[in-house]
Amino acid sequence: MKQTKRIVILGAGESGTGAALLADRLGYTVFVSDKSPVKPEFKTTLEHHGIPFEEGQHSLDRILNADEVIKSPGIPEKTEVMRAIRAKGIPVTGEIEFGWRHRPKGSRIVAITGSNGKTTTTNLTAHLLQAAGLNVRMGGNVGNSFAQLVLDDLQTPDTKERIYVLEVSSFQLDDTEKFRPNIALLLNITPDHLDRYDYKLENYTASKFRITKNQKRGDVFIYNAFDPVMQAYMAERSVTAAKKLAVRRGFYKDGNIRVGRKYAFDLTKGNLRGPHNMFNAVCAIRTALLLGVGPEYIQQALNTFVPPPHRLELVATVNGVTWINDSKATNVDSVFYALQAMEQPTVWIVGGQDKGNDYTPLMPLVRKKVKAIVCMGVDNSKIIDAFKNMKKPIVETRSAAEAVQTAAGFAVAGDTVLLSPACASFDLFKNYEDRGEQFRQAVTQNPTQNSKLKTQNSNNVTR
Ligand code: ADP
Repeated sequence: MKQTKRIVILGAGESGTGAALLADRLGYTVFVSDKSPVKPEFKTTLEHHGIPFEEGQHSLDRILNADEVIKSPGIPEKTEVMRAIRAKGIPVTGEIEFGWRHRPKGSRIVAITGSNGKTTTTNLTAHLLQAAGLNVRMGGNVGNSFAQLVLDDLQTPDTKERIYVLEVSSFQLDDTEKFRPNIALLLNITPDHLDRYDYKLENYTASKFRITKNQKRGDVFIYNAFDPVMQAYMAERSVTAAKKLAVRRGFYKDGNIRVGRKYAFDLTKGNLRGPHNMFNAVCAIRTALLLGVGPEYIQQALNTFVPPPHRLELVATVNGVTWINDSKATNVDSVFYALQAMEQPTVWIVGGQDKGNDYTPLMPLVRKKVKAIVCMGVDNSKIIDAFKNMKKPIVETRSAAEAVQTAAGFAVAGDTVLLSPACASFDLFKNYEDRGEQFRQAVTQNPTQNSKLKTQNSNNVTR
């Protein structure tokens, strides 16, 4: 089905490449443009499909003749290329919207957003639905792009009962127009990525609430009734026509959670621990119940869930010291929850590229739980300034190996070493995964650690 429309895709990452493949398959004329070098895997894919692309530049003469532009979420509106596109009045959309437009008829969407907990909750929700045998695909801001999932489904014989469980970021929501999840989850809102929102929390909040914008009666919006930012926003406006389902804290005790009046679940057998994960679990369980999954399936699936790595992941116990990788904690709020979850004296490895952090909310927890601070970053001055009056040792390091070595020097049996950086990783590492892997490697290969090393893959820490 050859189309006459020319689609230009900006950015050749996961979402851009997914959108390019789907657009190509649908018969559009496609051109992909990326200002940075394109990763070899995506290059190979584009070449394999004969999709023309450029890297290291945006050639306006090949872009401004587009009938529609699909913009990758990482590209801000402020860039020169976006300004030129907007000035010319070319319609711009995002890959999520494009996927939505071409989704199989009758499929349903669960979309999950929030400042923290998206990936965990998305994985868990998909796991609960899969355990009950539902026809699920998971992706979006995690794993495969939505466009890629839809493309795969063009070749799948039975997609009638398809449920897409999608993680969506605020940047992705910014580029949606008609996207309408049947079930939308908004986990929490804390300041993050404010550089993209004119440093205004209300702009970021409005972006998150776009997840509800097109919902209609019959849809459901699951939200955090205890989130002050959400409360304030919802007090001033009606955010959705969907049924609102408030999730409140305080319904769990000793690893058991109550969901609504009818159900109770035991979370002690699985690997999810800590109040924030209990909350994530309630949201996922609510979704599963709404989609008709029986409580017995949910309990079984909770028992077998393995949370994604780099989120309070127990790496090893060495000589009685517990090592935890929380490399994904790239903002202050997620570190707050990590520290709250610590039950033993903690050596805290923190630092990286600062995102305008205010460490004040961490003060009481650091005072109470942290015995030494190991900075791991190029510029550690803000952390040192924030905590220097606490009379705790603070040491600067420049690599995962050095940080692990230093932390090992402070820790004794019964302590925990927690990597929970509160910062982006790009000053010393490729990304948070690389930071977590290097940490893991340093812990498991550290020559000062002896043979008592007991590695525990992908098990989150117990609190
Ligand atoms: P996201 O995909 O939104 O970044 P993740 O599930 O990857 O969320 O978790 C990111 C970080 O936030 C981890 O350090 C994790 O322990 C922490 N976290 C997970 N769920 C929550 C929550 N509900 N509230 C606060 N922090 C959370």
